[in-house]
Amino acid sequence: MIETRGLTCGFADGTTLRFADVKLPQGGTLLLRGLSGSGKSTWLSLASGLRLPTRGDIAVAGRTLSAMKAPERDAWRARSVGFLPQRLHLSEALTVADNLGLVFFAAGLPPDAQAVHSALGALGVAGLAQRKPARLSGGELQRVALARALLLRPQVILVDEPTASLDDEACRTALALLQAHAREGGATLVISTHDARVAKALPQAQVLQLARSAP
Ligand code: ADP
Ligand code: MG
Repeated sequence: MIETRGLTCGFADGTTLRFADVKLPQGGTLLLRGLSGSGKSTWLSLASGLRLPTRGDIAVAGRTLSAMKAPERDAWRARSVGFLPQRLHLSEALTVADNLGLVFFAAGLPPDAQAVHSALGALGVAGLAQRKPARLSGGELQRVALARALLLRPQVILVDEPTASLDDEACRTALALLQAHAREGGATLVISTHDARVAKALPQAQVLQLARSAP
């Protein structure tokens, strides 16, 4: 579940973003909609505890993020949040399998090669385990990044503009995969998008419509 109250994020340059309250049950789907610059990525960074609100609060999977100390929040994020960022941030120096292996390291868990293999397999990319990211197509990279986000069966899956560079068919496939994995794991799913195709494909989702705040 995700619950926000009076969530406000101010930046050093004076920009202040204020977000309407959200109450999303565990297993629910939320669409963050809005034009570029309306605060979608900022909202996701607040939901993952990478950034703390300057006012208001946000609770994710039962934890109020600002109440945790930084190391505890980092550990919580590594275990509970699957983040699929807009830029995929795979290490070019490592194979696909080793990129996924880093997830265990970050969470303070022993590496689990079998779990890596089955996460890649669930997304149809187990055959790419020993490749470097530079040798993958855009669609393959996205599946690998999704496998990485889902590896620890997170309670919350946060996805930043997953379909911007995808054609219609790849867009449908990516959304179906996200939904299937969220449903299977009982995870709460948040997808930011300015792509009308996403809203159409997820008619049952709650929507948080963001607007650029007045300067
Ligand atoms: P979106 O993801 O919807 O494109 P962002 O969350 O990236 O929007 O940005 C929302 C607004 O906050 C923009 O006006 C952006 O310039 C501003 N912003 C984002 N990050 C920072 C920052 N670190 N410092 C100052 N302003 C920022
Ligand atoms: Mg963004």
